[in-house]
Amino acid sequence: MPISREIRLKRRPSGAPQPGDFELVETAVPDPGPGQILVHNIFMSVDPYMRGRMMDRASYVPPFQIGQPLSGGAVGKVVAVNGNSRFAEGDHVLNFSGWRECFLSEGGDLQPINASLAPLQAWLGAFGMPGLTAYAGLLRVAELKDGERVFVSAASGAVGAVVCQIAKNKGCFVIGSAGSDEKCVWLEHEAGIDKAINYRSCGDLSAAVKTAAPEGIDVYFDNVGGEHLNAALANMRLNGRIAVCGMIAQYNDATPPPGPSNIIMVIPLRLTITGFLVSDYFGMMSDFIRDMAIWTKAGKMKWRETIVDGIEKAPEAFLGLFKGENFGKMLVRLAPE
Ligand code: NDP
Repeated sequence: MPISREIRLKRRPSGAPQPGDFELVETAVPDPGPGQILVHNIFMSVDPYMRGRMMDRASYVPPFQIGQPLSGGAVGKVVAVNGNSRFAEGDHVLNFSGWRECFLSEGGDLQPINASLAPLQAWLGAFGMPGLTAYAGLLRVAELKDGERVFVSAASGAVGAVVCQIAKNKGCFVIGSAGSDEKCVWLEHEAGIDKAINYRSCGDLSAAVKTAAPEGIDVYFDNVGGEHLNAALANMRLNGRIAVCGMIAQYNDATPPPGPSNIIMVIPLRLTITGFLVSDYFGMMSDFIRDMAIWTKAGKMKWRETIVDGIEKAPEAFLGLFKGENFGKMLVRLAPE
């Protein structure tokens, strides 16, 4: 009977999560019963949205429960099958049973992975949920048109980097913000955007956006909220669209911050501000995978990953998202491929 280590929520974080909010627990996983599959996870994802699930409140996904293992996206390998014809030993599968080393499944929650299109861990990043978020948010929610001016926050991250490059592939003028010079250099020289702004060192962010895009921006893809949303509102063009994907700058705030001081700009500029959830766009998955495969093969879609090793490091990796410690998709490796 394999022993699986898993991360449980020990207490609900107040403000920024702390390592002591989590605990590492060993559990014995029984041998697979009839129809069951034993999966060993290889990579698991930590994502900013998980912070919301640590709060005890009704939302679009139920809250994590204290004393229970966390969950989230992971890719694993089937290591034992007991009478389930859909899967064979050695198959790689996408699943939602992250934050644990191994688990039993009846198969309904497992999706086979096409490892010939992209490396295993990319199915948690550029080819997975974050990539689809970028694709749907930019093309469907913001209704991006070829040649427009686009501003992206958290631009080197899992979602942001894909947003930037889709916009470039559509012939747009793209500016992005990120929290370090190293990330900005990558954005300009590898992802190919027109201007990257280090929001930590640029001083007045609105002024920096104006300098980068003097004629203003048609689409703002918001991953951050707060000052970034203010800066975008100050630089929008007539009939501009803002796709509100996330507001990571305020996920740890105990008290909600005041709204953007210049929200009044929506009136004269006839702006559209639309929030969205990727789960409403799973129907775009096949188009998304098709386009990502084409762009990647042509060298027009690149991404970075930060990989930490060992499930015991998963809370640390998660906390790192709020400090910009990840360069690209933050992943935890639980076992060798
Ligand atoms: P990232 O890979 O972009 O990682 C988070 C990054 O956010 C950090 O690396 C950091 O980058 C930046 N950041 C953290 N805190 C702040 C802050 N206070 N101010 C400015 N930047 C900050 O994460 P994802 O790509 O996975 O997610 C990006 C956003 O998209 C999040 O808001 C997330 O919640 C949202 N999201 C929404 C979905 C939806 O369905 N609506 C689905 C998936 C994601 P830096 O060093 O550049 O500051």
